[in-house]
Amino acid sequence: MIDKIKALLQEVENMKAANAEELEALRIKYLSKKGEISALMNDFRNVAADQKREVGKFLNELKEATQNKINELKEGFDNVQTGNDDIDLTRTSYPIELGTRHPLSIVKKEICDIFGRLGFSIAEGPEIEDDWHVFSSLNFAEDHPARDMQDTFFIQHNPDVLLRTHTSSVQTRVMETQEPPIRIICPGRVYRNEAISYRAHCFFHQVEALYVDKNVSFADLKQALLFFAKEMFGPETKIRLRPSYFPFTEPSAEMDISCNLCGGKGCAFCKHTGWVEILGCGMVDPNVLENCGIDSKVYTGYALGMGIERITNLKYQVKDLRMFSENDVRFLKQFESAN
Ligand SMILES: [Zn+2]
Repeated sequence: MIDKIKALLQEVENMKAANAEELEALRIKYLSKKGEISALMNDFRNVAADQKREVGKFLNELKEATQNKINELKEGFDNVQTGNDDIDLTRTSYPIELGTRHPLSIVKKEICDIFGRLGFSIAEGPEIEDDWHVFSSLNFAEDHPARDMQDTFFIQHNPDVLLRTHTSSVQTRVMETQEPPIRIICPGRVYRNEAISYRAHCFFHQVEALYVDKNVSFADLKQALLFFAKEMFGPETKIRLRPSYFPFTEPSAEMDISCNLCGGKGCAFCKHTGWVEILGCGMVDPNVLENCGIDSKVYTGYALGMGIERITNLKYQVKDLRMFSENDVRFLKQFESAN
């Protein structure tokens, strides 16, 4: 009988189970009432009295070893199952933070949508440009200060490769390749060599509009401006035009709108004038049309351009320009409702 117990002990030592069912089968085989160990317990009665002590010791050892081995295997399965328990399909999911649209993107879209309603379509161009598209085609004189290294980022000191200082270069690209009527709006990032402060940055964003056709007049420009101002800042908004100078338009003007904070009464924001400047505009200089291969005796056009940061500032009173590029979530989240 001792030999049989030893054989069983050996069997139990090498016992393996691939899954919980196999383990249960083993438990039944050895430990159930009809199992091998119970059978041995029954036979124990027939063991000679002088051997009972020794056989009993082996039998207990076998019983204990079997129980331990089965527990050990069971624990192995339990651990695997605990691993699976990490995925609790009934648990509420983690909240997913939705991003917000950047305030500049919100305002850019609004500007483009307003001009879209006037029939303008979006045109885009490269940010790395050449002298012709940024300056020469647009009537900038050879000695114009904008061509200076102080104001423009040149690439590898090559005076013909530079970062565009305005989106007017897109207008040139479109006029060179398309026949009038041209009615485009050009949003984009521009670069100027300026020290970064709360009111200046080395890059910012512009939107320019260009309309070239037969018989386009200053009155058309003024109507487009009035429409834009009312759509953007509300139906009560008034506009005024002041004569100005730009190389690429003649005549040129700057447009003010009645201060949207005080309604024109005068406040600190509008320096108590009741007006705030928002954009530059004018009739496209005939030289610019000719430079782009458009007959200035047949066609006329108007152009206007504005800084998106400036308009965003007016709409949302962002006092520090640098906040637009800092990606501070606390700042950006404030525009959630404007999305
Ligand atoms: Zn004001």
